Amino acid sequence: MRSIKRRIILLLILLVSNFFVWNAVYYYSQEEFTKVCFLDVGQGSAVFIKTEKNQQILIDGGPDKKILEKLSSEMPFWDHTIDLIILTHPQKDHIYGLLEVLKNYQVKNILWTGAKTDTSLFKQWQNLIKEEGANVKIADQGLKIYLTNNAYLSILWPAQDFLQDIKEINDTSIVSKFYSYQDTILFTGDITDKIEYNLIDQRINLDSDILQIPHHGSRYSSSDPFLSVVSPSLAVISAGKNNKYKFPHQEVLERLKKYDIKVLSTINEGDICLIQKKKKPFFLLSPMELKED
Ligand SMILES: [Zn+2]
Repeated sequence: MRSIKRRIILLLILLVSNFFVWNAVYYYSQEEFTKVCFLDVGQGSAVFIKTEKNQQILIDGGPDKKILEKLSSEMPFWDHTIDLIILTHPQKDHIYGLLEVLKNYQVKNILWTGAKTDTSLFKQWQNLIKEEGANVKIADQGLKIYLTNNAYLSILWPAQDFLQDIKEINDTSIVSKFYSYQDTILFTGDITDKIEYNLIDQRINLDSDILQIPHHGSRYSSSDPFLSVVSPSLAVISAGKNNKYKFPHQEVLERLKKYDIKVLSTINEGDICLIQKKKKPFFLLSPMELKED
């Protein structure tokens, strides 16, 4: 009887240690690549980046608690630390999930614009970032965040000098460009064409391989000049099924077609994950048929 008990305990120890070993193997094998996931958080936006050094970055958190589920499938179960969260602008479909992340993870660095709103979610944001003990930085045009020897984030918008004059909260959104080896990804928050034109006028280098379509595919963003200057080979739309705004708008899909830009949306694909192995270009994790029309 005792020996059976002992065998069961031994078996359990073996199973548990095996589990830890495989998790560690999995984790360290991740160092070989960079991963960028446009997470399907419904009507909202959340982008998860894992660098070659296993730094974890989250740009926005989506409209609810779903982000916690998503992070637990992207991160090892024992890891409750996130290196950097970026709040593009304080609206529910971007900020809510970040509040949950602040409550459930230890966040080392926080980047946001300082643009204020008078919602209860924003008050929570202010309290939580105060309590977090993280390094809090205000985004300003020209700021660069160096991640690895081969990857950094460049902040293209907002310019703090202009921030007070902006009436539309969407236009305060952080626009950032991720450089990884020779590839670039442009993240745009919810900016309208007003900021697109401003960035073009400033002759900022917007040219990117992959574009996160601004404002979930709203017709008031993704202007012709913007798409032509960014000239991505792939555009990604973060939006929710049957959302009340009817994002993405047909006009935007037609403009993308006109510039021959392939488009994927979280509505149709769920999470959209791209992998980059060292110097090679980004490729889709689960290669799906890119839609031609
Ligand atoms: Zn939004």
